[in-house]
Amino acid sequence: MSGGGAGLPPDLAAVRALPKVDLHCHLDGAVRPATLLETARAGGVPLPADTVDALLPHVRVSPACRSLDDFLATFETFYPVLSVPGVMGRAARELLLDAADDGVVHVEARFCPDLQATPQRPAEDVVLEVLEGLARGSAESGVSYGAIVCAYRPFTVEANERMVDLALAFAGKGVVGVDLAGPESLPGAPFARALERAREGGLPVTIHAGEAAGPESVREALDVLGARRIGHGCAIARDEALLARVRDEAVPLECCVTSNLQTQAVASLDVHPFDAFRRAGLAVTLNTDDPAVSGVTLSDEYLLAARTWGLSLDDLRALALAAVDAAFLDDAARAALRRRVGAPS
Ligand SMILES: [Zn+2]
Repeated sequence: MSGGGAGLPPDLAAVRALPKVDLHCHLDGAVRPATLLETARAGGVPLPADTVDALLPHVRVSPACRSLDDFLATFETFYPVLSVPGVMGRAARELLLDAADDGVVHVEARFCPDLQATPQRPAEDVVLEVLEGLARGSAESGVSYGAIVCAYRPFTVEANERMVDLALAFAGKGVVGVDLAGPESLPGAPFARALERAREGGLPVTIHAGEAAGPESVREALDVLGARRIGHGCAIARDEALLARVRDEAVPLECCVTSNLQTQAVASLDVHPFDAFRRAGLAVTLNTDDPAVSGVTLSDEYLLAARTWGLSLDDLRALALAAVDAAFLDDAARAALRRRVGAPS
């Protein structure tokens, strides 16, 4: 991989035209503000504003956001809307339409169905709705997809076993993997057995680790939870032995640069480890995390990386191809996606 330099630095149009892959995108952080407004109204859920412009400051983190608390408070504003039947399905469809507009050709959309379930609406209905929305959005946009079901650290072992059971019930029907999300101050080890069952059932596991917590959370993800990929992994930069291991074992990292700055997982772009990881030969990918809440597209993230670290369009294409390699796909689908992203398969 070259360090850039050859030719002009890519501009937004060139980055948009590059076929891209988003492996780390939370559906609940990707809902269009206009959709929140419309569906909240229809569902009788109060929001703090009644026009999109007035709502934006409440549902999108401001450039001044400098803490995880600020970041999470943004979700609280609109979270009740997502439990209204139909909203997650609509959001899933619109996610793929928006991805297509941004030149994204494949999205792995993740969500934790229990967070939108209610006594009247079981988690299974949330999954069905999301999968139907993704299928519709894909048919309309040509963007391919996989759904990742998130287990959630604050949940009980039993609740996360139910999430895994749900994921397994829809394996081969749109669900392609399982994630563990939530505050990294809570241990992942209690969910080792549930995640093992996911893997035994054919669903690979990705784990949020090394974002808020240190290198030990990444070790736990690899050694105890069987992670095939790591969400974020910023803390790997603080541990040389771990960095060498992640490189040698070719563990893909789902990097989300803007999100890391907003939550203060990383203090500033100057010290973000993305390019150090890339230069060290780690399998880095660039992703959005929560595009609507962060106010970014995947093209924005690619462009930010290009401008910050002097990456060429070829470097960016290599990142997209790394995401193809890391995607939770079977061999045939991976080969097809690789052709689409532009390299010989
Ligand atoms: Zn995430």
